[in-house]
Amino acid sequence: MTYDLLFTGGEVPGTGPADVAVRDGLIAAVGAGVSEDARTVVDVAGLLVTPGLVDLHAHVGPGYWGIEPDPIAWRTGVTTWVDAGSAGAYTLAGLRRVVAGTDVRVPALLNISAVGLAGRTGESRDLDNCDTALAIDTVQAHRDLIRGIKVRIDRETVGDNGVEPLRRGLAAAQACGIPVMVHIGTAPPALDEVLDLLRPGDIVTHCASGIAAPLGPAVRAARERGVLLDIGHGSGGFAFDVLERQLAEGLAPDTVSTDLHARSVHGPVFDLPTTMAKLLAAGLPLTEVLAAATVRPARALGLPGGTLTVGAPADLAVFRVEEGAFEVVDAHRQVRHAPLRLVNEATYVAGRRMIPRLGPPTPPWIPLTDAQRAALARRERDLRALLTAPLVGADGLAEQFPRPTPRSQ
Ligand SMILES: [Zn+2]
Repeated sequence: MTYDLLFTGGEVPGTGPADVAVRDGLIAAVGAGVSEDARTVVDVAGLLVTPGLVDLHAHVGPGYWGIEPDPIAWRTGVTTWVDAGSAGAYTLAGLRRVVAGTDVRVPALLNISAVGLAGRTGESRDLDNCDTALAIDTVQAHRDLIRGIKVRIDRETVGDNGVEPLRRGLAAAQACGIPVMVHIGTAPPALDEVLDLLRPGDIVTHCASGIAAPLGPAVRAARERGVLLDIGHGSGGFAFDVLERQLAEGLAPDTVSTDLHARSVHGPVFDLPTTMAKLLAAGLPLTEVLAAATVRPARALGLPGGTLTVGAPADLAVFRVEEGAFEVVDAHRQVRHAPLRLVNEATYVAGRRMIPRLGPPTPPWIPLTDAQRAALARRERDLRALLTAPLVGADGLAEQFPRPTPRSQ
């Protein structure tokens, strides 16, 4: 057999109609009329075949905010989940254990605070926790896992310490040759003071936040010297009106990420395709939004995925494109309508299909509304039915696995 797996008749964004072949967990060929000599041939006519999505800002644990990625990944196409600062030096071993048990890829950004996000926030109020030398040693010892430094800068997190945690994070990142992702939020410190410190390749997450609202000369100057703007939706980090003003100023985000965590996963975020639909609703074209969720986040951290070029990891997502007027809501209950949405039909990591699975129970410190509880129960019931349904033939993904339950938004 020439190939292990072959997708035929699909549409590859940026390429057009193309077959995609996989061998030994890598992309082996992309183009028209690839040899059908494959162990498994999957007909994806009418569907979109994209690189597995790369979520540049998520929280897979350990601690207050962490969620399990696999039970969401299999139905959303997200094959790389960057853990954005859940772990600091003291808690990295816990993240390692989490990562060892996941099917998806989990690169990490090390929190400059050694305690990471074990608790709710405030991790950089005690500067003794923001130890530059310790962060450098930790990165050096875990190069395979750590791709950058995370610093959260807002009033709650830093207390009276101003931008000092950011200075320390930048020093550690500079010593290790990796970028910093900075979270922005409620001042002080002032947003401009934060932006002015950032280097080319550093990342501002929550870039369209209604709390910090990056607009004007400082953010334009940062963008011009190569600072990247990342959405990082989260429970408070995304506002349609801010994004729309940024788009009018020519400040389109470089990357779209969810900041998916225990308090955003049941709304307003839900998942990455839903977040992507919000950018579509703001007027960005699909090709842009797909690049912002694949090749660009991968490039920002030097990750191997995010592309369907030959030799890349065979991380793939198969999507059905639905057109309509889909209501989407930001973190401040502003409503817009997306002209289309991507519904995931199948997700592959290193050429292996992710199987449907249930998520763990919600942790006791996360309050759910009655509506969220009902939506969760409905999804669990549907998924249990799906998991016990007999699988039929391999001639078509929809027959193999019925479409995932529609999202609750
Ligand atoms: Zn976050």
